[in-house]
Amino acid sequence: MHVVLLIYLVTHSVGRPGPPPSLDLKPSAFDPKEKYWTKFPTEGSKITPPHQSCEFRWKDYCPKVFRTLRMLFKVDPADYMLSICGDDALRELSSPGKSGSFFYLTHDDRYMIKTMKKAEVKVLLRMLNAYYNHVRAFENTLVTKYFGLHCVKLNGPAQKKVRFIIMGNLFCSEYMIHRRYDLKGSTFGRLTDKPESEIDATTTLKDLDLNFIFRLQKSWFQDFRRQVDRDCEFLEQERIMDYSLLVGLHFTEASNDGHTPSGAMTPFDNGCSETDSIPRLSRADVDQLLLDPAGWACIRLGINMPARVERTERKNDTEIQLVGEPTGEYYDVIMFFGIIDILQDYDITKKLEHAYKSIQYDPNSISAVDPRQYSRRFRDYVLKIFAEDA
Ligand code: ATP
Repeated sequence: MHVVLLIYLVTHSVGRPGPPPSLDLKPSAFDPKEKYWTKFPTEGSKITPPHQSCEFRWKDYCPKVFRTLRMLFKVDPADYMLSICGDDALRELSSPGKSGSFFYLTHDDRYMIKTMKKAEVKVLLRMLNAYYNHVRAFENTLVTKYFGLHCVKLNGPAQKKVRFIIMGNLFCSEYMIHRRYDLKGSTFGRLTDKPESEIDATTTLKDLDLNFIFRLQKSWFQDFRRQVDRDCEFLEQERIMDYSLLVGLHFTEASNDGHTPSGAMTPFDNGCSETDSIPRLSRADVDQLLLDPAGWACIRLGINMPARVERTERKNDTEIQLVGEPTGEYYDVIMFFGIIDILQDYDITKKLEHAYKSIQYDPNSISAVDPRQYSRRFRDYVLKIFAEDA
């Protein structure tokens, strides 16, 4: 069925010919009722191909908005089709999150598909207009790029519905990502549950695993700080919480004083070696990248950013330290980062979770706090782990 769906996506949702959409959308385009169902009978119809699966229906939510978002994000419709519909199948990721969502990566690594709960779809539709205005106003926004929202309903006694979002993969790059961190600024449950021997480049580490400070060049750091403020303000206004800053590091070489980082949370042990096909960049390559205007063109806030990381150490064993002490040990890296998981609003469940957990734990340590507190804590934390490179 997968292929049929994708063919449909190509011919109907994406590639429909017509004039390029205007960036000024009518309010009706954002109406949550703006959705189109198409029936896919097994035997095919005038507009759908025959297929071997049971009959199903396919829904596009706010198609005009997503088509315009793709244009805004400079996604070429033909490339989009090829990424999602090429001959190679999507790759299922081993469930990286705890929400129970399934994640798939397109064969070219550009797009991620995440299955969603109905409540998350509702949140996205509710804030779609504000999201659109935000990403339109700030082209450097760190907030996840969304390209399409769909639902498939299988006919039959169960009438099962699968809702999913197509979004940008933050780590789509020619550089291998050696370390990845999902960071929220809270401490409760924010340590990987994997034993050290199993941690590798595919492990998503968390706040209490982090043993680096990220040092950006001055003007980038200023841009970063401004953009985090704007993005957090937007999320706070939309009553969103529980989002994360996802950070990926490509270590270009050993440290600048010739050492390689040591210890479990460093990229050069635990089986996290380079693959043969992806060369590690040397310091000279990075300098070249910075000098070459073509190299500059692919650097954006949070994408392909040359930076340095300074190793930190948690010294105090008796009390949980969110951020360790700097050690003066630096490594050259290429950084990737963005704000993900922005579809949790502070509804009754979170209020109950907060009330329940705060009886047992320090309320500031838990993830579920109200959106204003969440954004303040997130910003404070981010500005402790990111700094200007002196
Ligand atoms: P949780 O409930 O644990 O926060 P979740 O199931 O809601 O997780 P997300 O937080 O959206 O899922 O994502 C889980 C993981 O998937 C992230 O930590 C990250 O490793 C990966 N991931 C999610 N979105 C992206 C993206 N846009 N680009 C790259 N990786 C991503």
